[in-house]
Amino acid sequence: MATRRTFIQSSAAVGTGMMLAQTRLAQAADQGAYRDKLTDSDGKYAAAPLPFPYDALEPVIDARTVELHYNFHHKPAVAAANKAEDALAKARDTSDFALVKYHERELAFQLSSHILHTVYWTSVSGKGGEPRNELAKAIDKNFGSYARFAAQLIAATIAIEASGWGIVGYLPATGKLMILQCENHQKLTAGGIEPILVLDVFEHAYYLKYQNRRPEYVNQLFNIVNWDDAAMRLNSAMLSTTTRM
Ligand code: FE
Repeated sequence: MATRRTFIQSSAAVGTGMMLAQTRLAQAADQGAYRDKLTDSDGKYAAAPLPFPYDALEPVIDARTVELHYNFHHKPAVAAANKAEDALAKARDTSDFALVKYHERELAFQLSSHILHTVYWTSVSGKGGEPRNELAKAIDKNFGSYARFAAQLIAATIAIEASGWGIVGYLPATGKLMILQCENHQKLTAGGIEPILVLDVFEHAYYLKYQNRRPEYVNQLFNIVNWDDAAMRLNSAMLSTTTRM
């Protein structure tokens, strides 16, 4: 149970998350589009610091789960993506492509994990509620209503076979907002999709608190969804849309 102190800390962190989303939106408007920082100054993949303390998502996600998730699932994926790129560079240097299939699969899996986890930490840094303004309009246009959208997102995410992600994404090429049911980190998604909200349903994301109760975890996530961040990401993805005659 959250103490008053942890509640205040969590509330402050959530408030900070909303401010970060608004700051990023302002930056996106200035610079053309928002991009997550996935690499360091040397071009190596790197995990950005968590945008909140470990206990900020209590009681929906317990502090220990966040700590383990970030340090022992997200960060190792970053290291493995770097390792795969190094191995491919070595393969080019030596013209030895015997293991190219393995390294390419590793790169796709681990880099997709890094990308989706980076988005996830912002997706769950809010206070729930419902989308507003342009995001609300886009949801109504593409799904009929927020209720229909949420029902599909919850059902699709719960029904993911084994491990994966519920993804709400925008495809600039079609101008459509879509819900995708991604398996692992890289399967059953659509090329070119810009994720604007992602829900992690690997067991490591919820098993300490929810054990086998994935439906309960997914429904609880809606109490900490950051719709402002999703709106910022949608606006940014729409800024990157260009039309070819
Ligand atoms: Fe995860």
